[in-house]
Parts: sequence; C-alpha cells; structure tokens
Amino acid sequence: MWVKKEFTEIVKEENKKKIRTSLYAALISFLYNIVEIKFEYNSHTSGPSNTIWNEYFYQIPKILLISGLVFMIVYALYPNLKNLFQRRKPMICPECDKTKDDDGQLSCECGGVFYEIKNMKWVEED
Ligand SMILES: [Zn+2]
Repeated sequence: MWVKKEFTEIVKEENKKKIRTSLYAALISFLYNIVEIKFEYNSHTSGPSNTIWNEYFYQIPKILLISGLVFMIVYALYPNLKNLFQRRKPMICPECDKTKDDDGQLSCECGGVFYEIKNMKWVEED
C-alpha cells in the first residue's frame, strides 16, 4: 500500500537531487570550458613552444572557480529551476491507487486525498 514518506526522508531526497543537479551543471560547465580552451588554442596558436598543456595549466584555476560558481548558483536556484522545467506533478490517491497529474483538485472520488507521488512510497502490507 502507499504510505506517506517521513518529512526527513523527503528533505533528504530533495537535498540529494539538489546536489546531484548542481554537480552535473558544474561538470558540464567544466567540460565546456575545457573544450573552449582547445578551440581557442587551435584558432590562434602562436609559437611552437606554446603547448596546450601550458594553456590548461594556467586556465584550470579559473575553470574550477567558474564551475564552483555554477554549482553554487544552481544549488541556490534549484527550487526555481525545478518549477521551471517540471510542470507536471504526478499525484496518487493512496486509498484507491488512482493516479493523475496535479490539477489543483486534491480530493478523490473515493473520498481519499491525492498526494504527490514523490512524497509517497510503496510498502508491502503484512
Ligand atoms: Zn481515491
């Protein structure tokens, strides 16, 4: 049967997702910058002694700083970003297992109440 998750469980899951999303964003920013340096380097290489590794060596602190900033920004804005990208909110009525997308109507035909699925979990009845 469907039961409501503990509040602490919901907070913990939300936090995990927040950190994961921020990490992905930071990683993408990091890779993007690495690729960008390579292209920049290719477009104006001057001397033969100028190696791409030198370029990376000097740019890495900046790239790490930018990635860190991206992480913090995504982390701070996560609730807003989530609302922006995730319009659908799947709901379930634990009384009759009926599901639907959130339409503002919380009461179910069976007399039960709809909850967001992410706040519910399935447990075997004993
Ligand atoms: Zn119901």
